[in-house]
Amino acid sequence: MTSPVWHPYAHLKTQSPAPRVIGGTGPRFTLESGESLLDATCSWWCMIHGYAHPRLVAAIREQAGELCHVMLGGLTHEPADRLARELVRITPAGLNHVFYSDSGSVGMEVAMKMAVQYHQLRGRPGKHRLLSLMKAYHGDTAGCMAVCDPEEGMHSLFAGYLPRHHFAPAPTAPFDAEPAAVRADLDALRAVLAAHHHEIAALLMEPLLQAAGGLNMTSPDYLRGARELCDEFDVLLVFDEVATGFGRTGKLFAADHADVTPDIMVLSKGLTGGYLGHAATLATDRVHEAFVGDSPHHAFMHGPTFMGNPLACRVALESLAVFEEEDYLGRIAGLNRVLCDELLEDATLAAHPAVEDVRVLGATAVIETRDSADLAGVGDWAREQGVWLRPIGRWLYTMPAYITDDTDMRRITDVMKGWFR
Ligand SMILES: *Cc1c(COP(=O)(O)O)cnc(C)c1O
Repeated sequence: MTSPVWHPYAHLKTQSPAPRVIGGTGPRFTLESGESLLDATCSWWCMIHGYAHPRLVAAIREQAGELCHVMLGGLTHEPADRLARELVRITPAGLNHVFYSDSGSVGMEVAMKMAVQYHQLRGRPGKHRLLSLMKAYHGDTAGCMAVCDPEEGMHSLFAGYLPRHHFAPAPTAPFDAEPAAVRADLDALRAVLAAHHHEIAALLMEPLLQAAGGLNMTSPDYLRGARELCDEFDVLLVFDEVATGFGRTGKLFAADHADVTPDIMVLSKGLTGGYLGHAATLATDRVHEAFVGDSPHHAFMHGPTFMGNPLACRVALESLAVFEEEDYLGRIAGLNRVLCDELLEDATLAAHPAVEDVRVLGATAVIETRDSADLAGVGDWAREQGVWLRPIGRWLYTMPAYITDDTDMRRITDVMKGWFR
């Protein structure tokens, strides 16, 4: 019997029945059939501690016995307060204010509204459009779709429905590029800002790693240059660290590679270790202070029902404690060494006619193929080898849980490489 569950991103006519997951521990989940699959994607990049982590499960259980939920309108509670303090402590200096919401997309909606209202409150209502990058992915809600790559992104069908924003070319200089190689990318960004800054509220980017749009990586110099351009043109800088946050690029935040503080930063996915949906939009004093005033327009008119959910905040606190106490940045460096050895150093892989490029950054690796047809069937094939891989278009990638050991990391890279033999 077919299930009434409507699956995401799936062609209903050709989709194969979804295997039923009954549990999981560490980097693996278990199917009803008894198969155990090593998750190369940690469930869309959020299950950074793997499945059934005892400390995270215990934190949720304990919190559930005290307080599962209460509205954040006019009330507060300890998990929300403590998590906000912790986020201020660990994020780049200057991000001192935390607005909660329930998903990465809504966290980005909050960031965009905040940026537009910021300029309104400063008497610049004309600055009500956004500047985004080609290859960007910022979520699936309407506001977010409008700042995703309008051509190759998955939302071109909705072009007529969405507000129009500005786009600059995607950065092309790689992570370790010389500053001179980054200049062309920054010149392209400058050109769009110079032409349209009078109507641009904010520049949005996934710093260093444009994830769902094709795992496009760039240099920390691009972030530093973008920061300078935003200051020059009175445009806020918004870092969408929903994917890059919590270690994915090798430092706690991608911003840390460049020592840049954005005006607004959005966190989700790894925030709760993936155990509950939640997001945080952080802002600097400058942004926050613009909202302190007497007119009715000074209130920030947003308030998701589940913002600051105590279960989510409590498990996020536990996730962060485990991350720091168990030296996850050290683990990520170890995973990075395996990814570099196994994928970057493999001359056969690089020479394969279907392979366009191989890139590694932190605990992220991608084999970019020339055509998505080159990856047709790779998921089923990997499953036969006990690995859960789910490519995006032409990109076969891994973003493993940080508790993945070297042997399992090699098992994943062996399967990724094996497809091309
Ligand atoms: C996943 C993702 C989002 C959207 O988050 P959801 O929780 O799925 O709404 C936004 N930005 C980036 C960079 C993401 O990777």
